[in-house]
Amino acid sequence: MQLDLPEIIDFLTTHLGDGGVIRDPASVERYTVDWAGNRRGDPLVVARPRTTHEVATIVAFCHRNVIRVVAQGGHTGLVGGALPDTDHPELMISLERLNRVRSLDPLNLTMAVDAGCILQQIKDTAEAEECFFPLSLGAQGSCQIGGNISTNAGGLNVLRYGMMRQLVLGLEVVLPDGRIWNGMKALHKDNSGYDLKQLFIGAEGTLGIVTGAVLKLSPRPSMSRTALLALPSIEAALELYDQARRHCCDLLSAFELIPRACLELAFEAAPQTPDPFDTAYPVYVLLDITASGPVDLDSLVEQLFEAGLSSGQVLDGVLAGSESQANQLWKIRELMVEGQQRRGEHLRTDISLPISSIAEFFADASHRMATLSPESTVIAYGHVGDGNLHFNVLPPALPLEDQKALLQRLETALFELVERFDGSISAEHGIGRTKQRPYWATLSDTEKELLTGIKHLFDPQQLMAVGRILPEIPENE
Ligand SMILES: Cc1cc2nc3c(=O)[nH]c(=O)nc-3n(C[C@H](O)[C@H](O)[C@H](O)COP(=O)(O)OP(=O)(O)OC[C@H]3O[C@@H](n4cnc5c(N)ncnc54)[C@H](O)[C@@H]3O)c2cc1C
Repeated sequence: MQLDLPEIIDFLTTHLGDGGVIRDPASVERYTVDWAGNRRGDPLVVARPRTTHEVATIVAFCHRNVIRVVAQGGHTGLVGGALPDTDHPELMISLERLNRVRSLDPLNLTMAVDAGCILQQIKDTAEAEECFFPLSLGAQGSCQIGGNISTNAGGLNVLRYGMMRQLVLGLEVVLPDGRIWNGMKALHKDNSGYDLKQLFIGAEGTLGIVTGAVLKLSPRPSMSRTALLALPSIEAALELYDQARRHCCDLLSAFELIPRACLELAFEAAPQTPDPFDTAYPVYVLLDITASGPVDLDSLVEQLFEAGLSSGQVLDGVLAGSESQANQLWKIRELMVEGQQRRGEHLRTDISLPISSIAEFFADASHRMATLSPESTVIAYGHVGDGNLHFNVLPPALPLEDQKALLQRLETALFELVERFDGSISAEHGIGRTKQRPYWATLSDTEKELLTGIKHLFDPQQLMAVGRILPEIPENE
């Protein structure tokens, strides 16, 4: 870094105005503490540009003066990517003021937006035009579309609509040297050469800062049915999933696995929440079926339920009779995550596996965790239809350092097993900083060479989101 802090602040204030620069400790707090409240970073300064041009101006300035930069969206990411690095000061670019919906085309089913739009704002805007933006996740009231794109977010409707990679048609990106790449095309088919936008999706801000996007919308579903089914085992859940895929055609939009221990966490978080059943069952499945045309959803769900009952896959079930009952069932899913969060430091993962391996993996991994730490509690649930499990472990009360060491051992053992099952250590949250080492350790030399080559092409000085996904590469390599 060639400039001192007052010079940097002076430049930013000149180009962004007073509200565009934040540096007093009280105001900086919300940018520096992560969602879980247990990690903290320390930025050089927080810049809040309002336009793509302003983002480009700051990034070009940083490039000229060898200043490290990191982008921050809603700061709900769970792998420390948007958290500023304390050892190597970074200028943080918050996209929160770049938050306009640029246009919506109901016939083309597309919407052009600034990167700082909050996901909920995008969903509401689409809905007002009888359209639907399907990305749905617990953090949708705070996360930004630029963060969703940069982490290739998934969520509850991936089964039917795909992840962000499938939902982005065009992108606008400020490159690490400050140039603007305008790829804001609203085309459903474009087969002309390399698909550059896909490089930035899921890149966690390491190759450029996303400033705008053209999103793919769908017709708004006019009907939906939500059911919570009680099952005897994980195996039964997978058999039921197989049935549901065949039975409900492409109308199945969510299929969530919830073992009993996870439901208990929801009741812990909100003790007034009633148990939807009179009896406790080993496993539950929360599913959504939606349609936008005249389809008899009730009979589809009933047939699935009755077939499950007679084959023994299903033991009991609750079908939501109204939107508010459906919301109550989904609320339990949200409360589960809240309950887990209240238990403090724990192993949190978002692994994925071939769907056909989930039951075997579940048994093996639970056994491994119990062998390594009999007092720990496995809390594993997930978007089973995507092969995605949040295989989390709550450790016993221990002195902090011992607890950290235990969680590290459990993570290593779990990730070894994931590799053995040909799975992925990140299906949703990305690599960021917290999974950088285990991720890198699983790559072949060829993969490492290709990835570092791409990074070098975009960011040869290594100034943008350094240490996320890739390790910092020594200069002489
Ligand atoms: C309660 C809860 C539930 C969640 N559920 C899910 C889920 O179901 N599925 C899922 O996939 N994730 C989930 N997440 C994780 C998180 O919400 C998503 O990863 C989200 O996409 C992050 O968006 P954000 O705006 O908060 O990004 P941030 O946390 O601000 O940033 C995430 C990463 O993207 C980079 N970044 C942010 N904005 C930009 C930009 N404009 N250009 C370039 N880089 C950028 C950051 O530098 C960082 O590396 C959940 C999180 C919480 C707290």
